Amino acid sequence: MSDRKETILVTGGAGYIGSHAVLALKKAGYSVLILDNLSYGHPELVKEVLQIELIIGDTTNRELLDQIFATYNIAAVMHFAAYIAVGESVQEPAKYYRNNVVGTLTLLEAMVAAKVKYFVFSSTCAIYGVPLEIPMTEEHPHNPLSPYAASKNMVEQILLDFDYAYGLKSVAFRYFNASGADPEGRLGEDHNPETHLIPLALLTALKKRENLFIFGTDYPTPDGTAIRDYIHVCDIAIAHILGLEYLLKGGKTDVFNLGNAHGFSVREVIETAQKVTGKEIITQEKERRLGDASILVGSSKKAQTILGWHPLYADLSEIIKHAWQWHQKRHGTN
Ligand code: UDP
Repeated sequence: MSDRKETILVTGGAGYIGSHAVLALKKAGYSVLILDNLSYGHPELVKEVLQIELIIGDTTNRELLDQIFATYNIAAVMHFAAYIAVGESVQEPAKYYRNNVVGTLTLLEAMVAAKVKYFVFSSTCAIYGVPLEIPMTEEHPHNPLSPYAASKNMVEQILLDFDYAYGLKSVAFRYFNASGADPEGRLGEDHNPETHLIPLALLTALKKRENLFIFGTDYPTPDGTAIRDYIHVCDIAIAHILGLEYLLKGGKTDVFNLGNAHGFSVREVIETAQKVTGKEIITQEKERRLGDASILVGSSKKAQTILGWHPLYADLSEIIKHAWQWHQKRHGTN
């Protein structure tokens, strides 16, 4: 008897968080299919590491989606495919609303037509805007400050309406700062262009970049730099499996924060990265980056209570250690 479980369609499975989710799904015994337009994804990692079928295409392509749902017996969709650069979204909102909102709506309509009932969605703590309280809970008011955040917020609203009208059940995960890499070094973060603090710090340690900018030293925090809640990408991946299984067992549509309820300043991250790598990271102080909040820290009590999610890698040194292993392998030591 085969112990193979349901087939899950993962959009954006060639990207950073999606690829780690695919690895976790495979390990848990699911059959997985990736849909990715490869605008930012890494097909070589799908081929060499994930070793599953990759359909190259866009979530705005309804015909393709109908064909996929007609061909494969898909039980649920995990939806990671989205553009993620906050600054770019301010400059090019149409790109973000088309891909993140229209693409998701098209996917959801195709799911309804094909009677696929379960949806796990990559949302973001950016929908909360400037925090009114720390740690932030799921009850925090929404105040998206960029088209990127607004696009995710709109999808969350669409999901509530689709449950009411069509019975589509979903879980949306609001990530804090996704970071780290597969502990075995098979996958990791490789955005182009890279804008995130930890990979940029490690690329500076590897001398692939001259220095690391510290955006803002006048925040109302103990050392003047902004504070974030860094959460390991594998803990996010495991949360997605728990969310999926919660839905498959009849769980109701809901939203969950994914954070560690512990914040680190930019300077603390850099110091930890220097310790982990044993390399100097040359920094340069800059103005605040537009749209950055001073502090973002999230409570995940709800995910812990309802889904039984418990982060395995909440320690910042370990998160950076795993990212470092990946960066050394991907970009070579100097
Ligand atoms: N940051 C920085 N230098 C960089 C990249 C980021 O000082 O080169 C800061 C950024 O202003 C924020 C924190 O590091 O306060 C985390 O930024 P990141 O882009 O990694 O994630 P975000 O919180 O924007 O999603």
